[in-house]
Amino acid sequence: MLWLLATDTSRLRKCLVGARAGRTRRALPGAAAATGVRIIAQCIIPCGVRAIVEATCRGHVRNFARRFFAMTAAAVREPVFWRAGLRIEPIAPAEIGVYRSYLQRSESASTEVPLKTSTGKLGRRTAVRRAHALLQLVDRANAAEIGHDETSSYARRYTMDHDPPADDRAAFARLCAAIFANGIGFNAVRNHREALDAAFDLFDPTRVARYDDARIDAILRQPIICDRAKVAACVENARRWLACAADEGTYLGRVARCAAQDDAAVGWPALVELLRSDFVRVAEMTARQVLKRWGFFTALSHPGGKRCLERLGLMAPQAPAPAAQQFIGAIAGAGGRDPYALEASFVLFSTIGPCRTRPLCLRCPLAERCPAAQLEAAPPRPAASSTAAKSA
Ligand code: SF4
Repeated sequence: MLWLLATDTSRLRKCLVGARAGRTRRALPGAAAATGVRIIAQCIIPCGVRAIVEATCRGHVRNFARRFFAMTAAAVREPVFWRAGLRIEPIAPAEIGVYRSYLQRSESASTEVPLKTSTGKLGRRTAVRRAHALLQLVDRANAAEIGHDETSSYARRYTMDHDPPADDRAAFARLCAAIFANGIGFNAVRNHREALDAAFDLFDPTRVARYDDARIDAILRQPIICDRAKVAACVENARRWLACAADEGTYLGRVARCAAQDDAAVGWPALVELLRSDFVRVAEMTARQVLKRWGFFTALSHPGGKRCLERLGLMAPQAPAPAAQQFIGAIAGAGGRDPYALEASFVLFSTIGPCRTRPLCLRCPLAERCPAAQLEAAPPRPAASSTAAKSA
């Protein structure tokens, strides 16, 4: 029978590096020979040992682990203290590939990137350096899930969706998109982008402002959008857009003037209020979505990206959204990357990758470096790749 044996050291981190890891590795075959257990695969990571072994029963695996502890205690000058709890799980023969790749990922994650594994309070510069190193593993995990091409094209799409708009028409289109996306998501709106452009005259506010009830009815008869209140809100907002722009030249000019007095570090509160007061059907979250899609990076934080940073111990739990965005901006600056492209990596990792709302830590290449890793459950079966990822 095949078994997975997982055992950790009492101090968990940095107990098995350098010479101690070498001695521990040499103790494994000796313990196996003494207890009649066959080792199929093994890995030594900074917090313990993982091994796939063949043995007739669970008791033999337990004996093997105890003999191994005794041998490492005798061989290591600075002893490694092993935790009492052993994890021994049976492996179905068909699943051995999953367990083997888990061991390979665990070992490569602990050797490829030199990184501090302290979970104490980190200085900002240290946290940025750590995050930058972890990002390589995040990108690798995303590519393993959906391929390099799809990962790059998602990052490009994400960046383009958030580029500062070139003119009032493009800015108004994104305001309308945020209203349409309310309740159905941005992906659904993006899928109908061409049909929406055709139905709304490319979102030219001058033309949309002249729409009457008959024109709204005509739009609703098309299979694009069926919520009259949203269409009517866009028409009303086009009228308000023109009224505000009449005072300032363009509406984006009004936004720029307000932004000059506002504070990015606290998430552009004045701009949020400006949008809420200027338009209908724009609540705080919608206003923040619009601002982020107008290039105001700290206006809104993607919940998945923020969740990853918190789980990895790079950011305090419950940190405000602007702080999360500033941190992502700092990582991007350190690596010379676009902050939106970098955020896209974390978004993918938290939607199609392992760090979902319910994390799949046994599939995660960051597991051995992650303070929030949950390695107790059995490894999941390989999941089918998905090409869809939620939009911010
Ligand atoms: S180990 Fe788990 S919690 Fe940590 S980043 Fe990976 S999936 Fe998320």
